Amino acid sequence: MYINNSKQIVIKIGSSLLIDDKKNIRKKWLFEFAKDIEQLIKSKKKVIIVSSGAIALGCKKLNINKKNLKLDKSQAVASIGQIELMNLFKEIFKRKKLNLSQILLTLEDTEIRRRAINAKRTLDNLFDLGFIPLVNENDSIATSEIKYGDNDRLASRVAQISGSDCLILLSDVDGLFDKNPKLNKNAKLISNVKKINNRIEKYISKNISEHGTGGMKTKIEAAKICQISGCYMAIANGLIDRPLKHIISKNYCTWFLPKISKLDARKKWIISSISPKGELIIDDGAIQALKKGKSLLATGIKNINGKFSKGDHVKILDKNMKEYARGLSSFNSDEIFRIKGQHSSKINEILGYVSKSEVIHKDDMVEI
Ligand code: GLU
Repeated sequence: MYINNSKQIVIKIGSSLLIDDKKNIRKKWLFEFAKDIEQLIKSKKKVIIVSSGAIALGCKKLNINKKNLKLDKSQAVASIGQIELMNLFKEIFKRKKLNLSQILLTLEDTEIRRRAINAKRTLDNLFDLGFIPLVNENDSIATSEIKYGDNDRLASRVAQISGSDCLILLSDVDGLFDKNPKLNKNAKLISNVKKINNRIEKYISKNISEHGTGGMKTKIEAAKICQISGCYMAIANGLIDRPLKHIISKNYCTWFLPKISKLDARKKWIISSISPKGELIIDDGAIQALKKGKSLLATGIKNINGKFSKGDHVKILDKNMKEYARGLSSFNSDEIFRIKGQHSSKINEILGYVSKSEVIHKDDMVEI
């Protein structure tokens, strides 16, 4: 139902769907998947595919094991495997006359607003040209500090910046269960999740994880981003043939339902940042002011953690270290360190130059 109602869909496939335990490429499955995509395109839906597999296919090509691969080596392996990945898709999708394009993203392409808008524009142009964007992380360039690291969160951020209605994470598990389904015959699949509360978080540790990088934890992180962004998200088993047809007809998967959000695109982007650079701990008075829709002033800031630049994403925490809001800082961390607790009228004097009076302007801030 959610797929049928969507105009724009992101589908993420994990490495284990493309390559099996014996390192065989699952071409037959990919052809069945291409039939699913053909069907979506015929029903006038825009489709973005996020596919893992660069490292797995690179390892296959070089006949080496993925385990114990150091970061710099894995970057080279990904560079070798990415072209294998594209060739594989191209060979199979050609049989269904489906055109593909490649987009390799680094973390900053979704985390820096200007670049995110640019990425969206490229995606829109590809739809206009009748091409299906095939997205992966630019693993050959990204280093550990500037990496998504898993394609689950990458896919959710792509869904969010592109304004997609629905994200399907296809992996080798049926969805989220209340118990480990491998150990408990009576484990129940959770069909719908409205809110990711403590009960849902507890289920995560009980669930088996897939072969890929993420496991259930990153899928839940992805779900949080989707819920805030007004995007439906499913965790579903992709190992079967025609996985999307199966979801549409049987609906045997876990759906995460979006929150109803009045936030505009920019504020959705602020709140679902993957990589906040620092934390501002504020006093009760400042919390009250924020609740009334005011900007965050230096006087309410008690403490600061992390090193960040002007314009970076930061978390705003209350005195009990509970996250209250997120925003874009108008000052860098060194400046905030010097002006925290001070009245706004003193800022220019303390810093020795003229600057803004709000540390985070209300338009750059979103409550959690
Ligand atoms: N980007 C990685 C690759 O293509 C996969 C990351 C993941 O497994 O989520 O190999």
